[in-house]
Amino acid sequence: MATFSPVDLLVRNAGYIVTMDGPELPGGWVSIRGGFIDAVGASGTAEPPARETLDARGGLITPGLICTHHHIYQNLTRNWFADELARGLFAWLVKLNPIWAYLDEEASYLSTWVALAEMALGGCTCSSDHLNNHPKPNLIDAQIRAARDVGVRFYPTRGAMDLGVRHGSITADACAQDIDEILSDCQRLVERYHEREKGAFIRIGIAPCNPFSTTMELMKRSAELAEKLDVRLHTHLAESKDEENFCLEKLGMRPMDRFRECGWDSGRTWVAHGVCLDEAELTHMGKCRCGIAHCPTSNIFFSKTVGDINLMRRLGVPVGLGVDGGASAGHGSMYHETRLTMLASQLRTGTTLTRARDALEHATIGGAQCLGREDDLGKIAVGYCADLVVWPFSGIFFSGFHGDAVEAWLRNGPLFAQETIVAGKRVVSGGRLQLSDFEEKLAAHQRVSDAWWR
Ligand code: ZN
Repeated sequence: MATFSPVDLLVRNAGYIVTMDGPELPGGWVSIRGGFIDAVGASGTAEPPARETLDARGGLITPGLICTHHHIYQNLTRNWFADELARGLFAWLVKLNPIWAYLDEEASYLSTWVALAEMALGGCTCSSDHLNNHPKPNLIDAQIRAARDVGVRFYPTRGAMDLGVRHGSITADACAQDIDEILSDCQRLVERYHEREKGAFIRIGIAPCNPFSTTMELMKRSAELAEKLDVRLHTHLAESKDEENFCLEKLGMRPMDRFRECGWDSGRTWVAHGVCLDEAELTHMGKCRCGIAHCPTSNIFFSKTVGDINLMRRLGVPVGLGVDGGASAGHGSMYHETRLTMLASQLRTGTTLTRARDALEHATIGGAQCLGREDDLGKIAVGYCADLVVWPFSGIFFSGFHGDAVEAWLRNGPLFAQETIVAGKRVVSGGRLQLSDFEEKLAAHQRVSDAWWR
């Protein structure tokens, strides 16, 4: 006999539901039970009884956006040395690396709390992070506490650098660690926090930083450890000409050759950028299902171009999107990054238009593929995590709108989420964060930044 127990939450009266699992529904509802999507219905179909209902007020509903590359701690140095952005990645890092060596547990907690709250306002329900600077212990533990306090899904990757200034690199010596120390901390974090089940809130990846701050030995041993622990790998790859020239001059090979030689070219890996990969290299990435986190704002600053996502898509490369840190990108909004993905792709492809739907697909399904979560994130479908966003779809930005709803959503902004729902819980509601200590946390975050500035 069928049961008719009420669902936990019914989101009703939508203008459009973009499920990413079939055609859009004009109007309709989504029901949620136990943190997962229980049912999706078109306008006019019978709604289930619910303990709580949410009026979507004609808004556009999408799956929660997924961020596949971030450096969260950088929000303590927003806009610092902005003039250096024009001089390239190395010049900019030389200025900021000594500052980031101030990072401690309090700064790590506050920067993560603020970053994930900001991301929730921009419609992000799951964010990864790439924390490479570990001048003090337990910085990722502090990040995980912050993520739990904010209530969004978090995928921290244990970044690492084993080459410091003392080895001729540009990394502050306080942040360059011994390989055994790095790998034992990776293992500790995985054993303590990595949730393997469907619907996980916390997963851990292993993530040496980039070719100019890590040795090939660290890369190789990281890949072996990831295999042993069955976790994912993340790093920067082919971000800029600076990196390409470094690899050619110092190692006599292209960044992709180094990457392959270290045993990283597998479906266990997703990389940030891939701007400078050629067609043969992207073909290989597609064949081994190695994902790419596309970060157009940062790429335009440092590389004056973006990766060719239309080519990546054609070659079968899983492509997610990332915001790549508050010091280069400035903002922490996946809405912004999705919009720029749509616009900037034409810098590479001329007349081939990346449609809003393509950009949204990268921000949802592509992100889930990069994180190895295509079975529970990135779609509004029965059994998937109840992570969804209600976007406002009326008022001045939409006055005069006709035609495709997804195009309108991504072209007509700037937009912030009206509701950001994670596992059926509202992190943003009525356009406001549902976090009681928001002002205190923001003031404490600014105080840390002020102290660093001095
Ligand atoms: Zn990065």
